Amino acid sequence: MNTIMSTATLNINLAALADNWRDLDSRTGCETAAVVKADGYGLGAGVVARALAGAGARSFFVAVAEEGVILRKALGEGPAISVFSGHMAGDTEMIRDAGLTPMLNSVDQMLRHVEGLPGHPFGLQLDTGMNRLGMEAAEWDAVRELALGQNPRLVMSHLACADTPEHEMNARQLARFHEMTDGIDAPRSLAATGGILLGPEYHFDLTRPGVGLYGGLPFVDARPVVTLDVPVIQVRDVAPGETVGYANAWTADTPSRIATISAGYADGIIRAMGPNAALHAGSTGVPVVGRISMDLIGVDVTALGSDPETLQLIGAHQSVDTVAGFAGTIGYEILTSLGARYRRVYAQ
Ligand SMILES: *Cc1c(COP(=O)(O)O)cnc(C)c1O
Repeated sequence: MNTIMSTATLNINLAALADNWRDLDSRTGCETAAVVKADGYGLGAGVVARALAGAGARSFFVAVAEEGVILRKALGEGPAISVFSGHMAGDTEMIRDAGLTPMLNSVDQMLRHVEGLPGHPFGLQLDTGMNRLGMEAAEWDAVRELALGQNPRLVMSHLACADTPEHEMNARQLARFHEMTDGIDAPRSLAATGGILLGPEYHFDLTRPGVGLYGGLPFVDARPVVTLDVPVIQVRDVAPGETVGYANAWTADTPSRIATISAGYADGIIRAMGPNAALHAGSTGVPVVGRISMDLIGVDVTALGSDPETLQLIGAHQSVDTVAGFAGTIGYEILTSLGARYRRVYAQ
């Protein structure tokens, strides 16, 4: 029976995901957490986190409290779930009820937390130069004693340029982190995926990999986790001089066989990829022609000699980062843009 439907299939290899966590874990002597923000980088936070817990992860990070609530339901009691955005005014009940650990980013958040939830676990995020989240040196000096007296679970900062090992910002942020935290008792964390690969002086007590778990750069040794197969809805002959898609953006100059596939920019295949993107039928690359529509894309399959039932956008022949390159962006953005419309199939 032919089971192909119109909905594209996002295959997520949980064994490869777990292997990537173990591989990153084996590169350090400290605890390895797992970052599952943005619905597990678009792959389904609950399923992804349970697989990582099975591999041995005991600490998880999300961006906002709402994600933490969902994750707590998926993981149950036990694993630590930390929230990068800290403790916002509307978060108190979620932090309390779901047992979340906010990474406090400012004096305001610190006071809100100790007043609103006295005795509830928290961590601290320091700014070492990225100027995104965390307390700066002067703020840290002001609350350092109060904060450390309340037994923080973690003191962390984040690197701005860790995917460029030779960037001098890495050493500068490392030195700043030492200045701000040397001598404290609380566990410390500085490295995400890129920081793990920079070497042991960046590891401290806990690492926080995200993208490398999901098979993305800068973790070049990662096992691929995602394949994306898109059904072909219709195939037609297009004569020289005829055009394909919106704005007549592509014109056939030879007799062509054009497949229309069932995915588009509403599914994360962002429109800017159009002129450069290719898909694969087996190992043969076939180019996108014309503009990417909301739900449909034209592909020139003339070279195949027969009509394919599906075409692959992400897989063995084309990584998430290659696909990102079609649009001049990064694997992170492609992963997290992969739409909710796909049928997600998880392999153990
Ligand atoms: C997203 C994020 C991570 C994970 O980063 P990757 O580059 O995906 O490994 C770690 N820490 C913080 C603060 C983050 O925002």
